[in-house]
Amino acid sequence: MPAGGDSALAPRPSPFPSSGRQGEKSWGLIAPAGNHSMPGSKNQTPFFPLRNLFPGLDRLFEVYDDLDRQIADFKERAGIDCLRKCRVCCSTARYVEASVFEMLPLSLRLWEEGRAEEVQARLEGIHPEEPCISLNLHPTEEAPEGCLNYPLRPLICRLFGFSATVDKHGRPRVAVCKPLKERNLGIDRRINEKIREDFPVPLMPDFSRRVALIEPRLGREKYPINIALWEALDLVGQKIHFLRAQGD
Ligand code: SF4
Repeated sequence: MPAGGDSALAPRPSPFPSSGRQGEKSWGLIAPAGNHSMPGSKNQTPFFPLRNLFPGLDRLFEVYDDLDRQIADFKERAGIDCLRKCRVCCSTARYVEASVFEMLPLSLRLWEEGRAEEVQARLEGIHPEEPCISLNLHPTEEAPEGCLNYPLRPLICRLFGFSATVDKHGRPRVAVCKPLKERNLGIDRRINEKIREDFPVPLMPDFSRRVALIEPRLGREKYPINIALWEALDLVGQKIHFLRAQGD
């Protein structure tokens, strides 16, 4: 996971009180609205009428498309994939970090569906270390188990487990998750050996840089995912209110 940075959007008070309602179930809060058509394929680029508010989102999804292609290739060559119904990486929201820019697609969607303020209020009531608010561990007919906003997930959710960091000697080191390592002892060592033999692997720093360069002001700093979503919802809301006021 990428290291956290200082808050560029601060100094507003943290939206997450440390006395958040720990233990309260927060999953499934942002399932797509019933009649809203989410993209059919998991990797299909979503369409938002409001996306023109933030130039750069098309480029963001171009980077995601490139990454998704590289990851599909890497998974096939390495012979690895996520364990079925494993939600471990999504459960540790404190370590799942995203920039505000990366959370804009989901925020725009929530504003378009008229659910942004409700989700923001719910985010304010949960503890920062609770699982990502998009993770649904209690499936219903309307909301399947897992990530409810998969096509709109941020960069780290695409990278983690199937990409490499770079060590102090400049060598790529694959970041295989703990559950996969426990089931396949030595898998990271074997993949790292292949990488040294010129085995292509997506590099986390490269993709982070590409995303940050699209929108440096909002794309550089990383926050725990639930906080990044709150900030992105707030920013989109400010923009909408400003545009409405101008139109009055
Ligand atoms: S956005 Fe989706 S994939 Fe990413 S941590 Fe949340 S539930 Fe998991």
